[in-house]
Amino acid sequence: MSINEKSFELGSKRSVIRELFEYGKVRKTEIGADNVFDFSLGNPSVEPPEKVKETLNKLLATENQTLLHGYTSAQGDLATRQAVANSLNKLCDFKIPADLIYMTCGAAASLTVSLKAIVNNGDECIVFAPFFTEYKVFIENAGAKIVVSEPDESNFQIDFEDLKNKITEKTKAVIINSPNNPSGVVYTTETIVKLSEILGAKSKETGHTIYLISDEPYRELVYNGEKIPFVMNYYDDSIVCYSYSKSLSLPGERIGYIAVSPKAKEKRLYNAVCGAGRSLGFVCAPSLFQKLIAECAELMVDVSTYKENRDLLYENLQSFGYKCVKPDGAFYLLVNCFGDDANTFCEKAKKHELLVVPCDDFGIKGYVRIAYCVSRKTILNSLSAFKNLAKEYTK
Ligand code: PLP
Repeated sequence: MSINEKSFELGSKRSVIRELFEYGKVRKTEIGADNVFDFSLGNPSVEPPEKVKETLNKLLATENQTLLHGYTSAQGDLATRQAVANSLNKLCDFKIPADLIYMTCGAAASLTVSLKAIVNNGDECIVFAPFFTEYKVFIENAGAKIVVSEPDESNFQIDFEDLKNKITEKTKAVIINSPNNPSGVVYTTETIVKLSEILGAKSKETGHTIYLISDEPYRELVYNGEKIPFVMNYYDDSIVCYSYSKSLSLPGERIGYIAVSPKAKEKRLYNAVCGAGRSLGFVCAPSLFQKLIAECAELMVDVSTYKENRDLLYENLQSFGYKCVKPDGAFYLLVNCFGDDANTFCEKAKKHELLVVPCDDFGIKGYVRIAYCVSRKTILNSLSAFKNLAKEYTK
C-alpha cells in the first residue's frame, strides 16, 4: 500500500459540518448572503477583547523580533506557563505549578497529545454522547477504541448506570466536555462529584488508573453567572485540555494548553505529555501567541452577545413548537427533529435556506445542532424560516 488508507479516508471526505459550510458558501453566491441562514460552524462571532489587539500591536513593535518569533521551550515559555498556572490557581483549592502546564496549538492538539501520553494499543476511551465528532479521530489515532456512553435525554447529564456498564479492564480514560458541543449543557457539581466517585472506585476495582480528560474550550462561556466545577478539585487523576479559541475568539491562531493535576498518582504523567507532543511533531506552540497569553490569560470575550443570541433563538424556537435542550453555555443549541431522521430534517431545513447540522456523527440520532455564534441579524431574519419549517411538522 503506497499510502495510509485510514489517513486517505479521513482526508477524502469532509465532515458534515464542513460539507454544509461549503454548500452555504455556494448558496450565498446564488441568492445573496443575507438570504442564507448559516448555523453550521462554531466560529466565534464576537470580537477578541480590545487588549488582545493592543498587546499584539505592542509585541509586534518590540525590538527583538528574532526572540518574538523564535522557538520557545517545547513545553512553552515559563512566563506564559506561569500566567496560565496563576489563572488556574484561582479555580482550585491547591497550587498547580507552571511545570505542569504544557502549551499547545489549541484544544485539538491538547487532546491528541494527552491521549498519546496515556494510551497504549488496545485501550478504550469513553466519551459521552453527544460528543465533539473529532474525538473519534483523536482516540483512534492514539491507538485506542472509542466507547460511547449514551445520554440521559431528560437533561443530557451523564447516565451513570450506562457509564458503569461501559467501564472495563481496558478503560484508560473518559473525556468530558462541559459546556458541551453540541448541546450547550453544563455539567453540575453533583455530576462531577458522582463521576469522580465512579472513576475512583472503578480504578481501584480494575487495579489501574482511569484518567479524566476534561476538554474545556468553552469553560468561561456560561450564562448562569456561575463558574463550572473545576475537575481537579474533585478527581486527582485529571488532565485539563484548554484552548483560547473561544474565550479570546482566536481559533485560527492555535493556542491552548494542557494542565496536569499535581495530585495525579502517576508522577511521570507530565513527562509523558512532553514526549507525546514531541513524537507528534509539535515543536512548540506559536511563539507570538504564547507571549500574548502571558499578558491576556485571564481575559474573556463579551459573553452577553452569545447569551442574547441564545435567548432569542431558544424562546422563539420553543414558541414555534421545537423541543430544544436549554443551553447554559457554549454557543450551540440542540434541537429535536420532531421525531424525524436528522438528515431528512436538515434537507427540509435547507429548502428554507436554514443550514443546521445533523447530530448523528455526534453520537445521537434525531437531533440537529444550531451554532448561534452568528450575527443578531441572521437570527432575526431566520425566525420566519424556522417557523415555516416547524409548520411542516406540526400542521
Ligand atoms: N473540543 C471541542 C468540544 C470543540 O468544540 C472544539 C472546537 O470547536 C475543539 C475541541 C477544538 O478546539 P481548538 O480549535 O481550540 O483546537
